[in-house]
Amino acid sequence: ERGDDEEETPPTKKPVTDHSVKVASHYNKLQEVGLEVRSQSRIFYMRNFNNWVKSVLIGEMLERVRGAGSRNVSVLDLGCGKGGDLLKWRRGGINRLVCADIAAVSVEQCQSRYEDMKRKSYNNEKIFSAQFITADCSTEVLSEKLDDPQLMFDICSCQFVYHYSFESEQKADMMLRNACERLKPGGFFIGTTPDAYELVKRLEASDSLTFGNEIFKVSFQSKGSYPLFGCQYHFNLEGVVDVPEFLVYFPVLEHMAKRYNMRLVLKQRFSEFCEEKVKKEQHRNLMMKMMALELFPCEVGGRQASESTEEYSHAKERCCRAGLRQVGTLSRSEWEAASIYLVFVFQKMA
Ligand code: SAM
Repeated sequence: ERGDDEEETPPTKKPVTDHSVKVASHYNKLQEVGLEVRSQSRIFYMRNFNNWVKSVLIGEMLERVRGAGSRNVSVLDLGCGKGGDLLKWRRGGINRLVCADIAAVSVEQCQSRYEDMKRKSYNNEKIFSAQFITADCSTEVLSEKLDDPQLMFDICSCQFVYHYSFESEQKADMMLRNACERLKPGGFFIGTTPDAYELVKRLEASDSLTFGNEIFKVSFQSKGSYPLFGCQYHFNLEGVVDVPEFLVYFPVLEHMAKRYNMRLVLKQRFSEFCEEKVKKEQHRNLMMKMMALELFPCEVGGRQASESTEEYSHAKERCCRAGLRQVGTLSRSEWEAASIYLVFVFQKMA
């Protein structure tokens, strides 16, 4: 209404909603902690389990794109966070990675983790090239920000992110557009997100508007009717996540994805996914490895060693060889939280 407002806000700058600000500032504030602190956490095994789900999913999809003849694999990590999946992309031997997230501090940390990884790699290991973008992927068009405007992706990975966009149809559609519009034919949009059916089932079974246990709490504002978009709940997980999220009504997502020529290939609850994948020895072994808690003091020469140092990894290697590890499992409370999620895979039709 006031002319001077227009001067303060350049017309090219998109308005940022309160919700996006809350999400970005929440993730920006999260501290990176070392193995010592992580292993004390009540969700230590759940985090490892979630990582295992992502590793198996990513590993299998990379095998599929290679099996289909892709030699130069490009990946978009949509909502990359602090780069928790960088090692998975490295192990998967991809060629190009684009990381995007709304939280600028997280993107910076992701980039410095990548630079670190490159610095410490052995001479003959070719680490993928990467671009880092800070953007609200539910309101901004990512393809306009790519260094290489011709770049097409084999995989878009969106891990524990997509539900933030279900605030409105426009946002959910923009996130979907960013995930799918630059996928090669046959390419995959993969991810993990809370299962709306499971959330509503637990809410309806509760005699209040909240449910959960000592490690997580989900709170709704009402129950009985659930709009397709903007159905907000508050998710609190052991100081890791404490933000408003939105129900993703999967049939709507599936329908919307058709606009981008995407067909649903897999939708599986974590429990079903796990049950199926542990039958494979390779995945079972990885699970054992990832659920192992190293039982050694992270000290080198009497002082605390940082996890990223070479001496730390040597000390760790020695202890692992000596068998100083213990394979743990999820507590009942952790399982109640982990079993809320599902895995999805969409494929771009030719
Ligand atoms: N994908 C990472 C992982 O699996 O470790 C991070 C997951 S974290 C639970 C959710 C991430 O989604 C946060 O880093 C947050 O900043 C990001 N995010 C939420 N809304 C977003 C949006 N509109 N655009 C881009 N990133 C968003």
